[in-house]
Amino acid sequence: MRFSTKAIHIGQEPDPATGATIPPLHLTSTYTQELPGRHKGYEYSRSNNPTRAALERCLASLEEGEACAAFSSGMAAATAVLQTLRPRDGVVGGHDLYGGTVRLLTQHFVPWGLEVAFASGSEPDAYAEAASSLSRPRLLWLETPSNPLLDIVDVRALAAVGKSRDMQVLVDNTFASPYLQKPLVLGADRVLHSTTKYLGGHSDVIGGAIVARSAAQLEPIRFIQNTSGAVPGPLDCYLVHRGLKTLALRMERHCRNARHVAKMLSNHPKVTRVLYPGFQNHPGHRVAAGQMSGMGGMVTFELVEGPEAVESFFTNLHVFSTAESLGGVESLASHPASMTHSSLSAERRKAAGISDTMIRLSVGIEDVEDLLRDLERALR
Ligand SMILES: *Cc1c(COP(=O)(O)O)cnc(C)c1O
Repeated sequence: MRFSTKAIHIGQEPDPATGATIPPLHLTSTYTQELPGRHKGYEYSRSNNPTRAALERCLASLEEGEACAAFSSGMAAATAVLQTLRPRDGVVGGHDLYGGTVRLLTQHFVPWGLEVAFASGSEPDAYAEAASSLSRPRLLWLETPSNPLLDIVDVRALAAVGKSRDMQVLVDNTFASPYLQKPLVLGADRVLHSTTKYLGGHSDVIGGAIVARSAAQLEPIRFIQNTSGAVPGPLDCYLVHRGLKTLALRMERHCRNARHVAKMLSNHPKVTRVLYPGFQNHPGHRVAAGQMSGMGGMVTFELVEGPEAVESFFTNLHVFSTAESLGGVESLASHPASMTHSSLSAERRKAAGISDTMIRLSVGIEDVEDLLRDLERALR
């Protein structure tokens, strides 16, 4: 089966008991056993739940992996991965990871004994150098496109760097979604998702997931999922699964709208710089074209003028909402310095290239004319 068909049918087989075309939502914490120990594979919903299992099967198939574990948030999924490591194990992170991931690594897991080194740039050499600074490098943590700079890292090249050092390679695929990029096919071992974003797609649920290339690679994560218990509820799983059914359609429109928005911004006198991997002059364009089938729905840009202009821009947006998050059907605008990346120090932000006039757009699937008009008015 191809992608769009799998997104609609895997884990959505009609209910054998009633014929219901859409499988029922299993709101249950426990399962009645015929005799002690004799059951249908489900005992308790922290360990497993049919609605969750259906979502996990669908996500695994969309990422071309063997197995998936769903979590109550993207950060819970990230935590589960890091909890499989031991004190003094080393993690190499990209230079522009999601702010919450940086906080989790540096403020939680470093005090717990992990060693963390960040690559100084997006080139494979920068990752190799960071790995060399660790005593026991175990995990390479990539994010592409990155947030909010939309930098691209070469997953094939970095998977090779990881393999040569016996490191597991994880890609946070939240920004691209499996519709546009399949890291396991490019050589990664595990994929992380905040299903809160494009996969759920409707800004109505928080969730996360890990998909692994092999069932054996998921085993330690599955153990943490059950043991520490950051599982999603059945209703949340249902919502994410329903979102998946239109992922292909939505991503096509996100990509198309974002391209129009990026073009308009790049010709606008009040905009200095537009970061969009679809532009030929984006430093990661060639790599992006080689590993993604579309350039995604995110566009980041900088205003010519300072803080008052930023405030006035946000005040005058009407179709775009000023909000954190991304990947929903509705367009959102955010100011990384005071929102998603405010937990980083001003120095770290500066070092990461996140300026105070930087604005990040999650371009939704509304009529593009309305989006362009809204942005033009706010810029004026
Ligand atoms: C949102 C996000 C996360 C965290 O996911 P939550 O569902 O908010 O916990 C991780 N990585 C990326 C790239 C994200 O955008």
